[in-house]
Amino acid sequence: MEISQKLQEVKREIAKIRPGSKVKILGVTKTVDVERIKEASKAGVEAFGENKVQEFLEKYEKLPNLEWHFIGHLQTNKINKILGKVVLIHSLDRYNLAEEINKRAYRLGINVPVLLEVNMAKEETKFGLMPEEVEDFYFEVRENFKNLEVSGLMTVAPYVENPEEVRPVFRAMRELFLKLKAKDPENDKFQYLSMGMSNDYKVAVEEGANIIRLGTLLFGERKY
Ligand SMILES: *Cc1c(COP(=O)(O)O)cnc(C)c1O
Repeated sequence: MEISQKLQEVKREIAKIRPGSKVKILGVTKTVDVERIKEASKAGVEAFGENKVQEFLEKYEKLPNLEWHFIGHLQTNKINKILGKVVLIHSLDRYNLAEEINKRAYRLGINVPVLLEVNMAKEETKFGLMPEEVEDFYFEVRENFKNLEVSGLMTVAPYVENPEEVRPVFRAMRELFLKLKAKDPENDKFQYLSMGMSNDYKVAVEEGANIIRLGTLLFGERKY
């Protein structure tokens, strides 16, 4: 099936679940070549996500006018390479990373929108803040790092055959999001809940996701 057909199908599903609400569909383009990314952009995919700095840079060089997000684990020594090129970093997961992004953003005179990555299911193999750490971390970043815009939360749910099994993970994310929102009403940037991938996006949207990250569903199986 064409990317455009798949995109329309996803949009119809979203419209059925939460009529009238805005859900940003991020095309996850790791291993996907530039031609296919162009095709997706023409088909109406409005933003793209990469999880490796080098691969991102290669694609960014050829397609600098697309809206790019960074969704993978970020090393502090690579921050400079992506600042100013990505509109949102989904994977802020530790204090020294926040400190380093802030330092560089300050020097450049820019503000950097970030999401806090939460390891909601506490999987050993995953990055992200433990759910119980998130609130303190949120307020530390808000207090200390004025060049960061804390714009929401992100999670990668455990992979399961039946996405119903991860509904509690998404639900807990939404509750955490609402709790922070209520404790810091002045932060009008805090608006995104990035959760849901090819396998589980419908459940994520049912539970309040407003950014979903789709790779396989739009582009087919990845070939490494
Ligand atoms: C690869 C990836 C996705 C997309 O995964 P699919 O299952 O192919 O949709 C989403 N989010 C992150 C962080 C990823 O690394």
